[in-house]
Formats: sequence, C-alpha cells, structure tokens
Amino acid sequence: MELDQAKIPQATAKRLPLYYRFINNLHSQGKQRVSSKELSEAVKVDSATIRRDFSYFGALGKKGYGYNVNYLLTFFRKTLDQDEVTRVALIGVGNLGTAFLHYNFTKNNNTKIEMAFDAQEEKVGSDIGGVPVYHIDQLEEYLSEEISVAILTVPANEAQKIADRLVEAGILGVLNFTPARISVPEGIRVHHIDLAVELQALAYFLKHYPLDHEES
Ligand code: ATP
Repeated sequence: MELDQAKIPQATAKRLPLYYRFINNLHSQGKQRVSSKELSEAVKVDSATIRRDFSYFGALGKKGYGYNVNYLLTFFRKTLDQDEVTRVALIGVGNLGTAFLHYNFTKNNNTKIEMAFDAQEEKVGSDIGGVPVYHIDQLEEYLSEEISVAILTVPANEAQKIADRLVEAGILGVLNFTPARISVPEGIRVHHIDLAVELQALAYFLKHYPLDHEES
C-alpha cells in the first residue's frame, strides 16, 4: 500500500480524519464493507467527492460491493500515523482553553494535550482534565521535542508574541483559535479556527444559500 503523500490534494487530506472516525466505528461494529452512499450520508460529503478522494488512496470501490472496511482502516491508520500520538501544548486556559482540556481528544484520534500554560498565577499549578497548567514564563523550560503542536487560546493581542516563542521553542504546527492572523516563518503550519467567523458564515449561508438550492 505504497502512497505518495504529496499526491493527495490538501482538501482530500483534510477529510481523512473524518473518514477515519467513521470507518473505525464501522470496524468496531464488525462491518466488512461500506458503500460510498452510506459513507456520504454519515460524513456529509457528497459521494462523487468520496469516490475521488478514495481513488487517491488506491481504494477502488466495486459496484454492488462498496469499499473494504479493513483496507480503508489500515490505510487511514498508516496515513494518519494513528500508531503515533501527537503531543500537544495548550496556551491560554480561559473559557475555551479549559473546555479543550476537558474534552477527551484521544477517544477517536491520537492527539493528546500534555500540558497547558497560562499567565494567571491562580491557574498555575492546577490540573484540569488531567493536564498540568504551568506558568507561561516556563514555556521554554517545559516544552520538549516531543511536543510538535500548540493550541492557542490566549487573547488576540497576545497571540503573535506567544506564537514567536512557540516557534523559537521548536513547535511545528499551531492551531490558532484567536481572531489574530499570526505570522510564522516558512515551514511552520498555522491553522486558523475563528469560531465567531464560522458562525457568521453559517448564518449568512442559511440566509442566502438555502440548502435545496445549493450546488454541489
Ligand atoms: P477567562 O474568563 O478565564 O479570563 P476568557 O477565555 O474569557 O477566559 P481571555 O481573555 O480570552 O479569557 O484569555 C484566555 C486565557 O489566556 C486566560 O486564562 C488568560 O489568563 C490567558 N492569557 C492571557 N495572556 C496570556 C499570555 N501572555 N500567556 C498565557 N496565557 C495568557
């Protein structure tokens, strides 16, 4: 099952964890195969897109049979490095940060928040959802090579300063939940998730693009 990662389009790669979660559930239920229609309904991606995505994985569905669940699962595990845990640090233990610490990410995928940092003394030294909270001044001291990803849930005006320190400390990927657009050197990946913007976009789409008129 050799695969050239570079050939998978980014949009397809982004859907991988979604597919993985569903296929994993099917596997635990003892299902052997799945049709693109079933998949499509479950993950809410149209079946033409699923067929195209899966063709990149070398998974060619057979008419009347569908896709082999074991094959897909082995593929996804390998591609998503499910055998390897991605260790994550979270910066900013406010309302959003605290919610993430309580959320059990490991249930369906192998990412684990190992430590958190905050600037408020009263939060430092606590343990939230099994994750220790350290002072932000100790960032460089505690971040180790094994931690490659950071979640940013600090106020927007602190985001760039913290991002600079994270990069300096060897972080490779930042999941930025602040509205600030941060700049990082080439080779560092930043994914922005602005919940307010997403909600606004959804409201706008509901108003202007009712689903029964949507083009797929
Ligand atoms: P809260 O109600 O706990 O303040 P919030 O999400 O409304 O939460 P924000 O002002 O967005 O508060 O701050 C989020 C968290 O980031 C807070 O816990 C705050 O102490 C922390 N924080 C602020 N500045 C920094 C910094 N420079 N480094 C690390 N953490 C910081």
